Amino acid sequence: MKVILVPVTPFQQNCSIVICEATQRAAVVDPGGDIERIIAEVERNGATVEKILLTHGHLDHCGGAKALADHYAVPIEGPHKEDAFWIDQLPAQTQRFGFSNAEAFTPERWLEDGDTVRFGDESMEVYFCPGHTPGHVVFFSRAHRLAFVGDVLFAGSIGRTDFPRGNHAQLIQSIREKLWPLGDDVTFVPGHGPASTFGEERRTNPFVRDGVAA
Ligand SMILES: [Zn+2]
Ligand SMILES: [Zn+2]
Repeated sequence: MKVILVPVTPFQQNCSIVICEATQRAAVVDPGGDIERIIAEVERNGATVEKILLTHGHLDHCGGAKALADHYAVPIEGPHKEDAFWIDQLPAQTQRFGFSNAEAFTPERWLEDGDTVRFGDESMEVYFCPGHTPGHVVFFSRAHRLAFVGDVLFAGSIGRTDFPRGNHAQLIQSIREKLWPLGDDVTFVPGHGPASTFGEERRTNPFVRDGVAA
């Protein structure tokens, strides 16, 4: 599995193009915007996009989802349906933050904890991790020990919880009860900033390291 990071939007959100190396078929995780740059990277890598995967309903993660889905005629999977209220607000949010226009949409598939998403010969497990938003999900490739965690966890930090329906205690619980059991060796790609491992965050992250109170 090959991962190409394309930072998109003024928020430098890590859109990931995830390519199955056996088939060159790909999924695009969190196309927040700048879709012409995403399309150029897909072409440069000779990949065929099969679906779009969304971790949560925030503008910088799904602002380009509908336009990209239309471009490739592919389905959108995720996030969990509790984030529908965020996706419904996309047109208003894009105006407010001066992003290029984003359309609201309904994903072809809302995701639940325990679901599996597939592209090419690859599959990723879905973990429901509310807190930053109420419908946030995380994608985990068990075969490649790699997780796409959106705005749940960052290298050295955690997601904001001061948005409507954000919940700090729930976020900490999601990280400790859903992410840590996947293993210290798991590398994660966060929605913003550099990648890290769960083990490194358990040792050093001031918000969720082992032994720190929630
Ligand atoms: Zn977010
Ligand atoms: Zn974000």
